[in-house]
Amino acid sequence: MLASYFLNRYPAITAKPSPNLPAMKKYLSIVVFLLYVPALIAQPTTREMNLINWMEFAEFVPDQINTVLLPVGTLEPHGAIPNGSDNLAPEAMAAELAGDLNAMIAPTLNYGVTGSLKAYPGAFAISEESYHMFVGDIIRGMSQNKFKNIIILNGHGGPQTAILQDVALELSEELRVRILVINWWSVASDDTFAVFGENGGHAGNNETAYVQAIVPDHIHPDRYTGANMTTPYPSGSTWYAYPFPSSIGLYEAGQGYPTFDEQQAMDYFEAVNARVGSLIEDVIAKWELAGLYE
Ligand SMILES: [Zn+2]
Repeated sequence: MLASYFLNRYPAITAKPSPNLPAMKKYLSIVVFLLYVPALIAQPTTREMNLINWMEFAEFVPDQINTVLLPVGTLEPHGAIPNGSDNLAPEAMAAELAGDLNAMIAPTLNYGVTGSLKAYPGAFAISEESYHMFVGDIIRGMSQNKFKNIIILNGHGGPQTAILQDVALELSEELRVRILVINWWSVASDDTFAVFGENGGHAGNNETAYVQAIVPDHIHPDRYTGANMTTPYPSGSTWYAYPFPSSIGLYEAGQGYPTFDEQQAMDYFEAVNARVGSLIEDVIAKWELAGLYE
């Protein structure tokens, strides 16, 4: 009975023995057209807010681009890799992800709230109050520039994470903007286990690999002396030391030592970017679906 219904309703499909060539050609041309649609959408000459001029900015934001990636980090020691690793990582991540996410890239905030490592040479620490105010003003500026989705790519942990979350909570509601704070090394924890077979650390296998993929010339394994420049973080409140005795801190004792392996660096870099990119896509899609702050 169902078959006869379809036979009557769609005789051309069910009864005709040979393929319908004109229709197939039409569908094929539609498919080809859809494949080329992304190329037809205008692209800005640059996604960097430092490089774009105000006229082009106005042509794209907010009508065609309403997402901005803001890399934030700090300057602090990282074993045998650069003091600016917390800046270099989210900055490279933003450059990798901006095209796929159709986002602009804000200049990196290179100074942050350095905690127990600020006594080390070359480290800088901004006070929590100043940082809170300054990041807040940057977010106000993003909103004033009509961005709707503000994605903070954070490269530095400790109290900085809590401040970023506080600012997000405060200003999202006030400015009616959506703010996502990403602590990449935590988001990428599964990738750390997948690539290294164990947990990571501050300036450990994970961060060293990610930064090695970006600036291989500034990685100095010859200066790495192993366990004597590495300390596992205390569990709970078992002990506290200021300054922290090593610039490499392990999340778990016996795991997370830097490997300086080129292949692992490339694999980890790609895995982390893919994971962070899909997290951002997913959150933005759900904000849209929920119709929040439209
Ligand atoms: Zn770091």
